[in-house]
Amino acid sequence: MILPFPLYEKMVRHALQTYPLEACGLVAGRKGELLRFYPTDNELQAEDRYRVPPAQLLAVFRELDREGLELAAIFHSHPRGRAWPSETDVREAHYPCLYLILSLLPPDSSFPLPSGFWLGQGIFACLRGDERRFSLLLRGFRIEKEEGAVTIREEPLVL
Ligand SMILES: [Zn+2]
Repeated sequence: MILPFPLYEKMVRHALQTYPLEACGLVAGRKGELLRFYPTDNELQAEDRYRVPPAQLLAVFRELDREGLELAAIFHSHPRGRAWPSETDVREAHYPCLYLILSLLPPDSSFPLPSGFWLGQGIFACLRGDERRFSLLLRGFRIEKEEGAVTIREEPLVL
């Protein structure tokens, strides 16, 4: 799956701005292409859970309808966790779309930190004027549930 860099950048920015809470958002696409990112609020205001407010969800779905787009992916961050679906994520995976999870972990202290602001998959980012730095990893998953059996399949992302 190709993830256009500007979308990735918006997701990272949204996750950093929402930190230490979980950030979430929706990705619109067409025919398997990821085209647009809609950052949303996290109604739960939690560090380990998220929920897109129903009014924002509805507004995005209306726009998708209007423009002939589909819900291609649901994005959320793991401010302190690895990039893998949690039990809650699996339980609440109700859409047949891609699930994008961005983990923000403390960087390995032995790794020399760049002084710059931005970014790339697996590289470090820091908020401007803020000393916090993170090791970023964004991964995509398909979560399938059939007769009680759960299959989690990673879908490689190409920036
Ligand atoms: Zn999660």
